[in-house]
Amino acid sequence: MSEDTVTGHPLAPAWLRVPHDAAELDPAVFTGQYARDASGCVTVDGIPVTELAQRHGSPAYVVSERTFRSRARRVREAFDAALEPLGVQVAVYYASKALLCTSVARWAVAEGLGIDTASGGELAVALAAGVPGERIALHGNNKSAEELSAALDAGVGRIVVDSLPEVELLATLARQRGTRAPVMLRVTPGVHASTHEFIATAHEDQKFGLSLHAAADGEDSPALQAVAACLAQDDALELRGLHCHIGSQIFAAEGFAQAAERVLALRETVAGRWGLALPEIDLGGGHGVAYTAADSAREITDIAGDLASLLAKALETSQLPAPHLSFEPGRYIAGPSGCTVYTVGTVKTVTVSPGVQRRYVSVDGGMSDNARPVLYDADYTAVLANRVSPEAPVLSRVVGKHCESGDVVVKDVYLPGDVHRGDLLVVPVTGAYCWSLSSNYNWLPRPGIVAVGEDGVPREIVRRESMADLLARDPGAGADTTS
Ligand SMILES: *Cc1c(COP(=O)(O)O)cnc(C)c1O
Repeated sequence: MSEDTVTGHPLAPAWLRVPHDAAELDPAVFTGQYARDASGCVTVDGIPVTELAQRHGSPAYVVSERTFRSRARRVREAFDAALEPLGVQVAVYYASKALLCTSVARWAVAEGLGIDTASGGELAVALAAGVPGERIALHGNNKSAEELSAALDAGVGRIVVDSLPEVELLATLARQRGTRAPVMLRVTPGVHASTHEFIATAHEDQKFGLSLHAAADGEDSPALQAVAACLAQDDALELRGLHCHIGSQIFAAEGFAQAAERVLALRETVAGRWGLALPEIDLGGGHGVAYTAADSAREITDIAGDLASLLAKALETSQLPAPHLSFEPGRYIAGPSGCTVYTVGTVKTVTVSPGVQRRYVSVDGGMSDNARPVLYDADYTAVLANRVSPEAPVLSRVVGKHCESGDVVVKDVYLPGDVHRGDLLVVPVTGAYCWSLSSNYNWLPRPGIVAVGEDGVPREIVRRESMADLLARDPGAGADTTS
C-alpha cells in the first residue's frame, strides 16, 4: 500500500490507492453480489452488466434482491440477538425514502420488517405493495391533513408526531373517524451525527422534532408538553412511545449511545410525572455504509451489542420494564444492494497546472441520477466494467452530461488508461438516495431499476422513462401552433 501511495497522482486524495490489479473489485464496496466473469465483465448475481445495459438501457440502476434481503435480515437478526436476552422486543422498519417501489417494499416485509414512510406518496406505494397498514409508520415534520387522514384510513401502526400543532390536528382527525391514532413522539435529543463525528448540544436549531429543553425556566420542554397533550386527549391518541433519529451515514457509536441515554431519561421523567411506562423507544436509522476504500463501516452486530450494554446498564437503575425498541435503517439496507451502470462518452484530459493533468471521463447520466456528490459532497468509486484493461491506471474524474461544472459522479478514481467511448462503468453503493433523489434535470429521462431476483432473473421493477413520458405532462407538446 505504501508503494502504491508513492506512485500516486499529485491531485489524488491521500486515501486513494493505485489499484495494482486491473480486475480488482474492492470487497469493501463491491459486496457479495459482484464478480468478474471469464471475459472480465462485472456481473451482478451472475448476470453480466453488459447484458443488463443492452437489454435495459444505460444508465441503469441494478439492485440485487438477494443483497437487499440479506441486509434487511442481518439488521433484524443483529438487534434481535443482542436485545432479546434483555427481554427487549425489537421491530425494524425499513426507511423507504432510501429506495422505494412496490417490489422493494415487499422484499422488506418478507424479511420481517415494517415500512417507514415520510409522505402520502411513500405511503401510497407501500399500500400498493400490499403492506398491511399496521406495519407502516408515517413520519414527517409537515404532514398535511390529507396525509394524516390517509394514514388513519389505512390503519397505520404508528404516526410519528413532530410538533405540538400536529398533536392537535391528529387528535381532531382521529376523533372525526372515531378511532385512536397510534402515536410516537419525535424528540430531538440534542445529538447530531454524521459519518465520523458526532456533536452533542443542549439546544436545537433544526426543523425536526420536539426539544428536550424548556424554552424558559419553570416551563416544560416541548417534548413534555407533547406528552401531556397526548395524554390529555387519550380518547383520540394512543401514546406508544418516543422516537429519535440523529442523522445519517453515521460510523461513530457515541452518537447513538448519547441519544438513547437522553430518550431513556425522558421515559423516566414521564414515568415519574404520570406513572406511565411508555412501551416503546425508536432509535431511528442512520447506520453508515462504505462508499469508498476511505470508509470503514461498523458491523451492525457491534452497533447492536453496544446498544445492548448501554440498555442493560440503564435498566439496572430503573424501576420501569424494558421498552420495546425499534430501528429505521434505510441506507444500510439499500445502499450496498444497488449500483449504477453507465456508458462512457467523451474522454478529455485537461492540464491543471504545468505538468499536472486530470482526465475527465464523461458518462451518460450524472447529477440527475446521483445527486449525492452535489448535495453532500459524497464520494463514490467506479470500475471499468465491460472488460479488464492491460493499460496502467490513470487518475480520473467521472462526470455526468449536465450543464453544471459540479456535475461529478466520482471525484477521484484510477481507471485504466484506455477507457474510451462505449465502455461501461459500474459505480457501486448507489442503492440508497440515488434513484429516490433522481430528477429530470436537462430533461434526461430517469433510469429504471433493474432487479436481479433471488431466482437469478433480472427484471425491471421500475420502468425507464421514455421521451413520451417526459412530454406526457406538458399539454402544449404536439399542439398545433400555427392556428
Ligand atoms: C432518513 C431517516 C431514516 C433512515 O436513515 P438512513 O440513514 O437511511 O438509515 C430513519 N428515520 C428517519 C426519521 C429518517 O428521516
